[in-house]
Amino acid sequence: MSLDIDYYELLECERTADDATLKASYRKLAMKYHPDRNPGCQDSEARFKAINEAYEVLKDPQKRAAYDRFGKSMPQGGFGGHADFGDIGDIFESIFGSAFGGGGRQQRGPARGADLRYDMEIRLEDAFSGCVREIQVDVAARCDACDGSGARPGTSTHRCTTCGGHGKVRAQQGFFMVERTCPHCQGSGEVITDPCDQCHGEGRVDRRKTLTVNVPAGVDEGTRIRLSGEGESGARGAAPGDLYIFLHIARHRLFEREGTTLFTRAPISFTTAALGGCITIPGLDGRKHDITIPAGIQSGKQLRQRGAGMPVLNGRGNGDLVIQIDVETPTKLNAKQKELLEAFRETETGDECPASQGFFGRIKEMWDDLTE
Ligand SMILES: [Zn+2]
Ligand SMILES: [Zn+2]
Repeated sequence: MSLDIDYYELLECERTADDATLKASYRKLAMKYHPDRNPGCQDSEARFKAINEAYEVLKDPQKRAAYDRFGKSMPQGGFGGHADFGDIGDIFESIFGSAFGGGGRQQRGPARGADLRYDMEIRLEDAFSGCVREIQVDVAARCDACDGSGARPGTSTHRCTTCGGHGKVRAQQGFFMVERTCPHCQGSGEVITDPCDQCHGEGRVDRRKTLTVNVPAGVDEGTRIRLSGEGESGARGAAPGDLYIFLHIARHRLFEREGTTLFTRAPISFTTAALGGCITIPGLDGRKHDITIPAGIQSGKQLRQRGAGMPVLNGRGNGDLVIQIDVETPTKLNAKQKELLEAFRETETGDECPASQGFFGRIKEMWDDLTE
């Protein structure tokens, strides 16, 4: 039973209305048509449901954009759902419970607070060592004025007149008498007749909270950290939701990471490649790793430093550091160096570079075959 009226009309707002305007109008209208204020009035109840449906869509930027484009035929359930956790900010259920056309969802009392998502970027160094971060989040927190009850201070909730405080109502449905959760009080048996000024009967208000997040060593892109009970406060004393921290690892100038393995590419001079040597790679913890370059190393060769990679999340030990060697051919030789290399070339027999010798040997054989 849904009123087929444009959502903006239902909320008595322009299509260009901002979030605050929509919210204010929604609150005013929800109070006006609330079934508690209009006992037994079918029209009010239908209007109340429709207003909630409209606000549910328009308060969400993605759903609102979809509604603006497609109207009510907008795609259901697919609003970039990856970012959603359950019923984020489901005000309808939060304030008034889920009994009105709740799609058969059985729930007693006000809904648990919504889960929230917070995206946090950290450096690879922080993922390596673990870190502690303070974050500030704006969440709906328990209203101090009414202590979360939603009732104006000094007043109390009243016994629900619809169900007489039983929390259940009976209705004739065809030949049957069915019992269902009271739509008036959502089964609690009590209703707010005089809502709190501060929270408009919601039992919670938006508040900025500072939270400390402990990021353990070894976290990766997409690791989630759950702060239990730090999500939205539940309506009228219901349990709060959780806050999920989604971690993102910033790109590092030197290292790439795959699982617990750290990769880096190290260009070395052709003399070091030929003669062998040592290079020093800084670890993410500031430790230095001296890497021995064996004489005659080729480009593309990977050297592995065991245990110098990322730590295992919630485990023991570290992965490996893998260094890929790139031999760099010199491009800026001075006269002296050219002379020395020319002299070196004079001494070459071909045995110094077996791969080249083999290759040119095969070319020569091919020529000989062709000119036979
Ligand atoms: Zn309050
Ligand atoms: Zn009731």
